[in-house]
Amino acid sequence: MKILIANLGSTSFKYRLFDMDGSSSSMIASGGFERVSEYTPCIEKMLEDLVAEGHLASGSEIDAVGFKTVLGKDLSGCVDADEKVLAALEGFKEVAPAHNPAYAEGIRCFERLLPEVRRVALFETAFYQWMTPAAFSYAIPQAWRDLGIRRYGFHGASHKFIAERTAKLFGRYDVADRVRSLYVDGPGEFSAEPFRVLSCHLGGSSSVTGIKNGLAIGTSMGFSPQSGLPQNNRVGDLDSMAVPYACKMLGIEVGEAERQLNKESGLLGLSGVSNDVRDVREAAAGGSEEAKLAIDTLVDSIRHWMGSFYFKMGGAEVISFTAGIGENDVELRSAVCAGLEDLGVHIDQAANEATIRGKEGVISTDDSAVKVVVIPANEELVIAREVYRQVSKD
Ligand code: AMP
Repeated sequence: MKILIANLGSTSFKYRLFDMDGSSSSMIASGGFERVSEYTPCIEKMLEDLVAEGHLASGSEIDAVGFKTVLGKDLSGCVDADEKVLAALEGFKEVAPAHNPAYAEGIRCFERLLPEVRRVALFETAFYQWMTPAAFSYAIPQAWRDLGIRRYGFHGASHKFIAERTAKLFGRYDVADRVRSLYVDGPGEFSAEPFRVLSCHLGGSSSVTGIKNGLAIGTSMGFSPQSGLPQNNRVGDLDSMAVPYACKMLGIEVGEAERQLNKESGLLGLSGVSNDVRDVREAAAGGSEEAKLAIDTLVDSIRHWMGSFYFKMGGAEVISFTAGIGENDVELRSAVCAGLEDLGVHIDQAANEATIRGKEGVISTDDSAVKVVVIPANEELVIAREVYRQVSKD
């Protein structure tokens, strides 16, 4: 089955074409475009290229197109990308302005160009649909809650992949099977020994998720992806009173405050140097106190959320790191796990240093009660697998 994954960033369009069958998958082609303002010409060019390069005889040879949609109003899960999905994206376009209009345009474009090819949306919120109301509710008036203001959670494809992969790595095939069929069969019952993962997705955008027996029990992300940990240039958590106060004192409108919190905050805002951890580290090594504060604040926030989920799950068997920072920043992984020996967390420094640049591995010592792992992210493959499961179930 040929599955195309369309990744529509706010200024980029990336794609990967997979050949999938029940037990294996291979990537046939990949590519992308930067500085994109309109998606239709990119999608047309991609289809031309896939044919010209001999990967497809024509676009209609594609069996399904998968979209990593971010946030839908009153809709989540892995579902056909039809009018309901378009309405759900429209309903929350103000909350995810960089992503929802882009995906709506992309879905409509495929509908026009390849009407017979199935379109499937995997919402980033899908993995969090079994969180309890106590874990997702904000203490706000009913009228606000009626607007759909609640904690949703993002990076769902990535954290779900970690849930399945960690279970397999440590021989918990019961949990891995449960995770694999989650969006098709639902969670069902589970009564075996607990398997608890503190999953850290640390990249340009970051989040921590507590995963118990394959289900997300909590997330650092909230109503929008502008929450939780300090992000590359986005604020993360902020007291709601800070916005009206800063608007008044700085003489700025809410729209400008929103822009500053989305573009000039996070690692960039704190360090004053860059939104990239590598540059921030270099500045910290060169003596910048602000850059050091940016890194320390990120580490503190990761530990804050890990601690919360450790407590809520009553412990953890695994700590997992993924995405650009999680897969490469040896020092940050050490700092996150520092001083946790009493909880049974022991890092093997040599393994930690050796596990970078796309390598998967265990970086805790053999006698560490809590296993610490690095697992490379591959979101497109994760989405392709989900789309395959969705399409094959019919
Ligand atoms: P992602 O969103 O997963 O693509 O991660 C991108 C982010 O990973 C970049 O903004 C960097 O901050 C971070 N990153 C990439 N490579 C490294 C590295 N070698 N060391 C530390 N951070 C890195």
